[in-house]
Amino acid sequence: MPAEDLRKLRQHHNATIGLFVAFWIFTPVAIVVIELFDISQRAQNALIGTIFGAAIVISLLQFSKRCPHCRANLGWQSRLGIPRHCGKCGSILREDQ
Ligand SMILES: [Zn+2]
Repeated sequence: MPAEDLRKLRQHHNATIGLFVAFWIFTPVAIVVIELFDISQRAQNALIGTIFGAAIVISLLQFSKRCPHCRANLGWQSRLGIPRHCGKCGSILREDQ
């Protein structure tokens, strides 16, 4: 597989995991802010909108990538991010660092 494809898959993998981690840091903070502080309805809606928006973006990232070799969808093959090998054709998708 070309190095460029591997680099893109790695970037995609890191972006998915980075956003997932950020989501799990941001969501409890947003809930605490909504519960404890007397913030306006508009600010509440903005926080809840951000949580849902991030969840949708994470899902899109997870399920949008296909194997460059056989075009199998990779989202179902890994709990999060890109699997190390394609489950269908066995191509190496991520190498150990
Ligand atoms: Zn494949």
